Amino acid sequence: MDDLNKSIYAIGSDSAFSILARSNELIKNGKDVINLGIGQPDFPTSENIVEAAIKALRDGHHGYSSANGIVELRKAVADDFFQRNKVKIDPNEVLITPGGKAVIFYTLLIFGQPGVEIITPDPGFIAYRSMIDYMGAKTVALPHRMKNNFSFDAEELLSLINEKTRLIILNSPANPTGGIVPKSELEKLAEGLKKYPNVFILSDEIYSRILFDNKIHYSLKSFEEIKDRVIVLDGWSKTYAMTGWRLGYGIFPKSIFKYAEKLAINCHSCVSIPNQFAGIEALNGDQSSVNSMIDEFKVRRDFLVKELNLIKDVSCVKPGGAFYVFPKISKDNFSSSEISNYLLEEKFIATVPGSSFGQNGEGYLRISYANKMNRLKKFIELIKQFMNE
Ligand code: PLP
Repeated sequence: MDDLNKSIYAIGSDSAFSILARSNELIKNGKDVINLGIGQPDFPTSENIVEAAIKALRDGHHGYSSANGIVELRKAVADDFFQRNKVKIDPNEVLITPGGKAVIFYTLLIFGQPGVEIITPDPGFIAYRSMIDYMGAKTVALPHRMKNNFSFDAEELLSLINEKTRLIILNSPANPTGGIVPKSELEKLAEGLKKYPNVFILSDEIYSRILFDNKIHYSLKSFEEIKDRVIVLDGWSKTYAMTGWRLGYGIFPKSIFKYAEKLAINCHSCVSIPNQFAGIEALNGDQSSVNSMIDEFKVRRDFLVKELNLIKDVSCVKPGGAFYVFPKISKDNFSSSEISNYLLEEKFIATVPGSSFGQNGEGYLRISYANKMNRLKKFIELIKQFMNE
């Protein structure tokens, strides 16, 4: 069909989901697929959170809530944000959303339009670019290089801003690299952005709790100079192993909150009520399962980084957060997409090609280590086999 709204032809997809679909097909056909493609914790949601949702249903919470979410949950978000970042947030600036992705969607519906430039990480989360394309805005790639541990250079970022720039999207710890932006770069950026009062920042902090080696997360919301222009995206999917619950939030500055709220009213009305109660328990309840999940991720990260670096023509930096490694893999001039495809079809390992995250991702593979240690060991065996073939 070629007579639909022309924007719809521009929207992209997320290869992690198509790779997951293909993996499931292979599994159905009896293949033992090692799934290192999709970005979701391999841990169950903890029991106290599940119980809170069940209790909410039994207590009769079956209707709509206000579109921005129940006030107890928004207060819990504000308290949690204060505890972690020492920044006071008004609960009325918090919009509870069906997953963090909705915050990207709404932000781009507010800022994206033809003639506008949006700076976005490259390599970076696929949904940013898809939505920028859908809105007809121009993506301006901000390179995140391996030699900088996959962080950006603030001066380079500032040099990309011009009169058409309306939004900068940043993500730390990052998908697909696990890279963390150091505080020094954020400080330079905040200082430099004083010159551009019309430029907003979407700070995707969905992995902000998943940090290793005593790394500290600095929210862009904690920089006074730009605070009123920062939209924070965070949520429960990764930290609390709740990807299927579809629960996230955006902290939208007062100047644009009403637009985000109207989008919510028109699109999702409100997030499932029992899930909102579960979200309160997640934030206020026992945090030990979060901590043990992070400890386990660290063991896996250390194993993968060490083993991958022992393989000829593979090199991998040690990421500071999230649950991905992003090794550079060179094999006979194959593209990352050819390697990923071969690994899936011939070795039954699901990975995501680096090129799906932008042109600076070419030559790399995203490996999600949200999988058991014995599967990671098997993966290392198979990748060694592949590199020696
Ligand atoms: N932002 C980043 C960087 C992500 O990696 C993801 C999920 O993979 C999201 C946002 C969306 O999270 P959610 O599942 O809560 O929509």
